[in-house]
Amino acid sequence: MDDGEYEVVIIGAGICGLATAVALHRKGIKSVVMEKSESLRNDTGTAIGIWQNGWRALDQLGVADSLRSTVIPIHRERIVSLDDGKEQLISINGEFRALRRKDIIDTLFDALPPATVKFGCQLESINTDTDTAKSVLRFLDGSSIIAKVVIGCDGGNSVVANYLNLKPTKIFSLCGVRGFTNYPNGHSFDHEFGLFRKDNILVGRIPMDDNMVYWFCAHPYLPEDERTWESPELIRRSTLEVLSAHPQEIEEMIKNADINSFSLARLRYRTPWDLLTGTFYKGAVVVAGDALHVMGPFLGQGGSAGLEDSVVLARHITQKGLKQVGNERKIMVEGLGEAFNMYAKQRRMRVLRLSLETYLTGMLLGATSRLKKVMYFMVLSFLFPIKNGHVDYDCGSL
Ligand SMILES: Cc1cc2nc3c(=O)[nH]c(=O)nc-3n(C[C@H](O)[C@H](O)[C@H](O)COP(=O)(O)OP(=O)(O)OC[C@H]3O[C@@H](n4cnc5c(N)ncnc54)[C@H](O)[C@@H]3O)c2cc1C
Repeated sequence: MDDGEYEVVIIGAGICGLATAVALHRKGIKSVVMEKSESLRNDTGTAIGIWQNGWRALDQLGVADSLRSTVIPIHRERIVSLDDGKEQLISINGEFRALRRKDIIDTLFDALPPATVKFGCQLESINTDTDTAKSVLRFLDGSSIIAKVVIGCDGGNSVVANYLNLKPTKIFSLCGVRGFTNYPNGHSFDHEFGLFRKDNILVGRIPMDDNMVYWFCAHPYLPEDERTWESPELIRRSTLEVLSAHPQEIEEMIKNADINSFSLARLRYRTPWDLLTGTFYKGAVVVAGDALHVMGPFLGQGGSAGLEDSVVLARHITQKGLKQVGNERKIMVEGLGEAFNMYAKQRRMRVLRLSLETYLTGMLLGATSRLKKVMYFMVLSFLFPIKNGHVDYDCGSL
């Protein structure tokens, strides 16, 4: 990579990093995205559910309509307790669809000017030049660049979050498996989000269209799972073992899943109390997405929260951190403090509430004693009495 000087450098070309680059681009601000992988990471993670709040952010980013056309909308949730046979049908408030992660990544990437993303650039460290207050970014290959603004979107194991002294993330006792199953003659499932609970296992099933189904399974992490990490066939086998007492249609779904779509992830989270007290920015360095608030998948909100971050951050940088120089919009370092302060103020309570609800939901699912289950259930019901109330959030205009 060429050494050089840049206005805005985004670290990480995941959903949040690309969305942030798109948001800035739509406001006339040029950025460069440094990604450690050698190519776009559009072949991992199968799909994610995007609720109404996420669609609002995608609308602001100008990519919602093309993404909408790729999958069907889902209008209701069916929550089934396989322990006692109870079933609940809930209408979904607003828009909900599962999107292929590849489609989100490709669509955001395509919305950027050519050469915005630089691949094979793994950030190793950040230092501040005391004379200029600019950041010196050093990469694994020994090169370094200077940046006026650094936005860390480098995921749950973030170098930028470390620079801000955010506490290390923690790991749930659960892991998540995901995949796609294609039914060549059409599946027989209603266009609904099926959630099946049994003991400490949660299975979710969301049709993408009349043939393709996205599914996920959260279950207690076993040390043996370490062995299955890299082998889709082993992930399938161990998932089938975990789900051996589940209804046949669920077992069939896993058995017939596309072997290349299997992925297994340890579920990380930043504790809600670290988000309450943690630093979101220092000088001209700020964090967003999983780098800031990695959370379990139990509410399906991690990706959408990162999309919201991108819109709010770009809005405040535009309002307080810009000056017009000729035909160009340049970053005004003196205004950045106020812009980042407003970003942190607006995002802190939002991501704190999402993370707390996700944390309690994960703890409820993973709890092994009845007493703990009752306790987590009561705290959840007290703090978050409206199911899916968090999807009503509107991150506002870009
Ligand atoms: C099982 C599971 C199910 C989920 N389901 C949902 C769902 O239904 N709905 C939802 O909204 N969310 C869901 N999520 C969460 C969602 O996937 C994440 O919140 C989202 O992908 C995070 O995006 P990000 O861009 O912040 O981070 P990442 O996707 O982690 O991207 C970070 C990027 O930074 C790069 N990078 C890392 N370190 C460096 C470095 N040092 N230098 C340069 N580049 C670097 C990485 O290569 C990567 O490309 C789920 C997560 C899991 C694990």
